Amino acid sequence: MNEEKTENGTGTGNEKILEDVGRISYKAIMKAKDIVKPGAKALDIAESIEKFVLDSGFGLAFPLNLSINSEAAHYTPSLDDDRVFGERDVVKIDFGAEKEGFYGDCAVTVDLSGENQNLLEATESALENAISSIKDGIKAKEVGKIIEDSIKKFGMIPIRNLGGHSVEKNNLHGGIFIPNYEDDNETELKEGMVVAIEPFATISSGKGFVTDGDLCEIYTYVEDTQTRSQISRNILAKIKERYANEPFAARWLAEMAGSKFALYSGIQELVKTGALKRNPVLVETGNKIVSQSEVLLIVEKDSCKVMTK
Ligand code: MN
Ligand code: MN
Repeated sequence: MNEEKTENGTGTGNEKILEDVGRISYKAIMKAKDIVKPGAKALDIAESIEKFVLDSGFGLAFPLNLSINSEAAHYTPSLDDDRVFGERDVVKIDFGAEKEGFYGDCAVTVDLSGENQNLLEATESALENAISSIKDGIKAKEVGKIIEDSIKKFGMIPIRNLGGHSVEKNNLHGGIFIPNYEDDNETELKEGMVVAIEPFATISSGKGFVTDGDLCEIYTYVEDTQTRSQISRNILAKIKERYANEPFAARWLAEMAGSKFALYSGIQELVKTGALKRNPVLVETGNKIVSQSEVLLIVEKDSCKVMTK
């Protein structure tokens, strides 16, 4: 990495912040990995891991995701969630810290029965191979082909409508998409770009796609709107103050609303008026088990530097 500032602003000062954010993000998912066990409560884990990052002096890029089995992404516990991990669950731990608008984003999959090792190895090896290939000028679709080929070597298939992305300041999902298969997009990765690479795979009898599920606990601020209820206005004011740029969990607003009913009614009204966007749980269309591996990295001239380690 050279000393000058590059196009998207990852100069040395920013790289230092990204290093710190990356390190704490990785620490957080490793801590979560240690405590995701059969019988453990998802809500307790989410609260303790998010607290660890906040107590370390960082913000949260998004809520701790603990998606289980055919849920590929976006499950985070609700306010009084009683979900407990089962003996056979496959859990995707996906999380990131934030500082000064810089985001971490990384994920690891835990296989509680030990019976899905092939599936986990598929995404782990795909991620390793992708990392080895990344350098200035490589096309996103070339990375996608490497990911797809690696996953297929394990007899698994990639999830085609999920993928990696560039990460910009105050924008977790930047303009560049890095597919998990060889698509027809000619976009090149450039030195200095910050990108998340995230292969997702499912078993060969799956569809290889995700679709919106019913659960939704993660929301994003869109714009101010007119609302009927005072509680919606209060919630919106809080969201603008604290989560204007980052996806947030409904449970983070618990102290705002007084009751669970009031909180979720307020959120519902804000969704209806267009103030908030839903980020529902994404479920594998064939209802098959999904694994995921993810790192955040900076593209360099002849290689790349993984920040979430
Ligand atoms: Mn992620
Ligand atoms: Mn990501």
